[in-house]
Amino acid sequence: MTYSLMIHGGAGALEDLKYEAGESEFRTSLLEILAQGRQRLEAGASALDVVEFCVMLLEDNPLYNAGRGSVLNGQGQVEMDAALMNGSDLRAGGVTCIKNVKNPIAVARLVLEQGDHVLLAGEGALEFAQAAGAELRENDYFLTEARLKQLAEAQAAGRMTLDHERVKPGQSVGRAVGRALGQAGEPAIAQRPAPTEKLGTVGAVAMDRQGNLAAATSTGGLVNKRWGRVGDTPVVGAGVYADNETCAVSATGYGEQFLRTVFAKTLSDFVQFQGMSAQDAAQAAVDYLVRKVDGDGGAIVIDQAGRCGSAQSTSGLIRGWIEQGGEAVCKLG
Ligand code: ASP
Repeated sequence: MTYSLMIHGGAGALEDLKYEAGESEFRTSLLEILAQGRQRLEAGASALDVVEFCVMLLEDNPLYNAGRGSVLNGQGQVEMDAALMNGSDLRAGGVTCIKNVKNPIAVARLVLEQGDHVLLAGEGALEFAQAAGAELRENDYFLTEARLKQLAEAQAAGRMTLDHERVKPGQSVGRAVGRALGQAGEPAIAQRPAPTEKLGTVGAVAMDRQGNLAAATSTGGLVNKRWGRVGDTPVVGAGVYADNETCAVSATGYGEQFLRTVFAKTLSDFVQFQGMSAQDAAQAAVDYLVRKVDGDGGAIVIDQAGRCGSAQSTSGLIRGWIEQGGEAVCKLG
């Protein structure tokens, strides 16, 4: 049987890669990771191993908002979320609000393998990671100049922002996020900006040569978020989902909107109950996200036939894929 692999580095507008070196760096890193993932899939590695591996590489690259280079919360700290899911038996593992682990997705994998729980949070998650021998790093490892500057700008403007947000004093409240969070009655931060910029969360989905699907997602979340905030990324059915009968999904966008629409499972349901392909289901789920909560973000998908698909409501989604063993392709828009 053939294999497929798809990875992403976040959704948003790519016009202003203010904290990045530029498009070519994204393309180079995506193609490198796809090549390494392909090697493993060709050699017979499981989809679960490969999505974990690819996300670890993305976490290690400070270009992305996950692992090293994660955005900072309101206290200037890195608090990370990650989860992965195995499509053959619906086993899943995740961590949320975890600090100081080099690769949150590797800890999520340990949670999955340990099997008693699906999602561990904060200090409990860190203690679990330490006991399991996960690699730890001091705070300095995660911090980059760009992230400190980004937080200072967000705080000066009194806002919670996306990764790579343009923060301008006096900017209007975001069309979707201001409304979505306002409705939820949680005005933690007075103003929320227009969600027009790139998000930097990372993810991977794969189908291995046995036809098994898996999905993984990892993030530092939102800039200047309230400490203890949990986004969609570590929540099964919101930011990540995999079922061999349907598809594997990794999402990126404003987490609160993806939680409220149970986004990844909704996408999977379009495959399950309407017989859609990966591409049609991705588009249908994003249409639903926009219709229900005016949501901002996107997703990558591989269906049970190994077809790749993606859709976004933002102007860009950084992604690359290998469909059914074919050539590696990258797209940012
Ligand atoms: N979904 C992530 C979160 O809300 C952010 C992102 O995708 O960039 O934490």
